[in-house]
Amino acid sequence: MIIVMKPGAKKESIQNIINIIEGKGLTAHISDGKEVTIIGVVGDKTRLQDQNLEIAEDVDKIVPVTESYKLANKKFHPEPSVIKVGNAVIGGDELIIMSGPCAVESRSQLLETAHAIKKAGAQILRGGAYKPRTSPYAFQGLEEEGLKFMKEAREETGLAVVCEVTSLAAIEAAVNYVDMLQIGARNMQNFYLLKEAGKTGLPVLLKRGLSATIDEWLNASEYIIAEGNPNVVLCERGIRTFETATRNTLDISAVPVIKDKSHLPIIVDPSHATGVRKYVKPLAMCAVAAGADGLMIEAHPNPAIALSDGPQSLTFPQLEELCAELRPLASIMGKKF
Ligand code: PEP
Ligand code: MN
Repeated sequence: MIIVMKPGAKKESIQNIINIIEGKGLTAHISDGKEVTIIGVVGDKTRLQDQNLEIAEDVDKIVPVTESYKLANKKFHPEPSVIKVGNAVIGGDELIIMSGPCAVESRSQLLETAHAIKKAGAQILRGGAYKPRTSPYAFQGLEEEGLKFMKEAREETGLAVVCEVTSLAAIEAAVNYVDMLQIGARNMQNFYLLKEAGKTGLPVLLKRGLSATIDEWLNASEYIIAEGNPNVVLCERGIRTFETATRNTLDISAVPVIKDKSHLPIIVDPSHATGVRKYVKPLAMCAVAAGADGLMIEAHPNPAIALSDGPQSLTFPQLEELCAELRPLASIMGKKF
């Protein structure tokens, strides 16, 4: 449940409510909005049954929160969250483009890509060093060596860098090299991994599971936030449906639904959603028009020889063209780019 205080509620009245909540062994989550303060209660709220909070000083109303996720819930935190990743800010007034290869393949491939995506206008470099591949015989990633190249690319270009982590060992290595951890679709409900990523305090990019409902996705984000790490960015990357024309089906409705239910920023990944290069641009445009805070776009110096996801990767000229076409659309949507 949340306790909505009256506009201009006194500090002592707010503290009084916090004391009652904490006195019952529950956690009070404070959201200081422009107009009102909202106090969210996390824990077994039946412990507050004998408290008449409705009539406490400066309390406006008590609203039950029926959803199982609380900290990710917009009712707990009505203002949109703004998340800093290196020099980039996600969820603010700027459209964010994360781009780069599916997998870090070599130092030269990554550095060349970093410079090219920066020139196109992207603010964050993505690249996988630990690749969750469908086949155990497919390229699995350069692991720590790949992370070192990510760090070098970040130092050379000033871009923020994000890398997927698939195990505790990967998290322990990645924290030394990257600005943001990515939890991939296949690990969205790996609750142990979510908690460990949460404990690092680094921003986490949480991709939607292949067959996850929006409710399950938000509950997964709750695992990270519950570790004291509110820096979560959601990424819609397509879901499994009966359709086979595209690799997955992009659920564009996830953008307005997330904006309605949560304060967390959401970006869209049309590369993994479609698996087809020529569909990336139309769906990227669609995502921005739907209100996404950013995009994840795979790009490669030579997609024909990419070790993974070549068919969906854009060439650098294609990325530049996409960014150029996004500019007027971003401006219509009130985003700088
Ligand atoms: C990726 O971003 O490279 C990736 C593997 O994505 P997903 O987890 O969405 O499949
Ligand atoms: Mn990929």
